[in-house]
Amino acid sequence: MNKLPELIFNISKEGKVGYSFSPVPATFTDDMIALDGEYRRNDMEDFPQLSEVEVVRHYTQLAQLNHSVDSGFYPLGSCTMKYNPKVNDTVASLDELSCHPYAPISTVQGNLEIMKTLDEWLCKITGMGGFTLAPAAGAHGEFTGMKIIRKHLSDKGDPRKIVLIPDSAHGTNPASAHFSGYEIKEIPSNPDGILDVETLEKYLTPDVAALMMTNPNTLGIFEKNISKIAEKLHANGSLLYMDGANMNAFMGIVKPGDLGVDVLHLNLHKTFSTPHGGGGPGSGPVGVAAHLVQHLPVPVITKTNDGYHAAYFNKGIGRVKNFYGNFLVMVRALAYIMALGKENIRKVAEDAVLNANYIRKNLEDVLNLQYSSKTLHEVVFSDKGLNVKTLDIAKRLLDFGIHPFTVYFPLIVHGAMMIEPTETESRETLDEFISVMRAILKEAQEDPEKLTSAPHNTPVRRLDEVLAARQLVLRWKKTEEK
Ligand SMILES: *Cc1c(COP(=O)(O)O)cnc(C)c1O
Repeated sequence: MNKLPELIFNISKEGKVGYSFSPVPATFTDDMIALDGEYRRNDMEDFPQLSEVEVVRHYTQLAQLNHSVDSGFYPLGSCTMKYNPKVNDTVASLDELSCHPYAPISTVQGNLEIMKTLDEWLCKITGMGGFTLAPAAGAHGEFTGMKIIRKHLSDKGDPRKIVLIPDSAHGTNPASAHFSGYEIKEIPSNPDGILDVETLEKYLTPDVAALMMTNPNTLGIFEKNISKIAEKLHANGSLLYMDGANMNAFMGIVKPGDLGVDVLHLNLHKTFSTPHGGGGPGSGPVGVAAHLVQHLPVPVITKTNDGYHAAYFNKGIGRVKNFYGNFLVMVRALAYIMALGKENIRKVAEDAVLNANYIRKNLEDVLNLQYSSKTLHEVVFSDKGLNVKTLDIAKRLLDFGIHPFTVYFPLIVHGAMMIEPTETESRETLDEFISVMRAILKEAQEDPEKLTSAPHNTPVRRLDEVLAARQLVLRWKKTEEK
């Protein structure tokens, strides 16, 4: 494991420079510079002074401390950290695709065609009536989707107040519904980890605008009552929102549109293999059933005999993002979909489920499964019955160069360990992970201290995570100021 480099400020030496030029004659006089003197900086106090090679090494060493999909196994549940094929980047870096967002429509026909084609593919995969590609993330998609539901209901003169959310939903769902102006009611899932129709009925009052259901839910379980649930909701004048961020589990096999879903979002930066982590950019397209297409945000890309157009007037919710959204992310996703083709899209889901179940089978004798239902693309174990905590196991995994699984989520599982290997991992990698996990669990019994004090080989040892979150130190200050 690499060691932590010194802060760049600490390796600075007065007088070192990256480049030196021969003196340039003073060409500019004060009256030629627009900025007033008081705003001009004559020197940069405390700015680190280093040679070029020192700067390069410093940042290269920092970059090497990152764990990424390209450097190792990354089974972070719910996040779908699959490998992102490099061909997507090659396509996204074609010069022909770069253009100014204000360029005349007639000059960007190819770009519009790419967006329209992606929209059509997503409709085929999900069975929805139309998509907006504008939202920049999954949660942004949820917000957009809830706004569409709100607009639809208020246009009908029946605004409604409540959004129902099962306790197995993703954490962003309640936040998005709340931000869209709704009151949230949580519904319990049953002992099998899914939502019962009978339970839903108890909560289904005339004030319910929608149910927001994560499917597969955060336990990795398919909500098998979903069609019945959709019928009940529709009979009540309510809508069904499906959080489809984890479509990796069943794309090419089941179409949410066929299940009665009214609105859903996808995460291109999960299922459709565009890079994520480190803050994006991402893309969270929202698909709607045919009766809601009129409410999609603008711009809406359309095609007529004389080409592609971007329309700005409809009965929609307005704009949710500047310009068209994160265009080059869309290009990557379309490259991925087209490279796979129809058959292989299904294969992705089958292999994702197979890999997760391979891990489940090989660890279920040593780890507790709180829900015994069949799982799809991820498996959630519990720390019940262990003499160490989930966090200790996660930290010990770091010593083996493996990114930990998602910890303590979903909340309905005690000490949750949410493991999602994705379809892009080989059997050898899965076997290695399984043997590391088994070795760690053995250590837990023989030498628990090894886990409770982990990690041992990382540049930074165990952090006080609460303190780190509460007292953020994001800026270097000179020692005297500290
Ligand atoms: C990741 C995820 C989200 C949120 O997506 P972001 O792009 O992180 O905003 C929502 N729902 C589910 C089920 C997810 O896995």
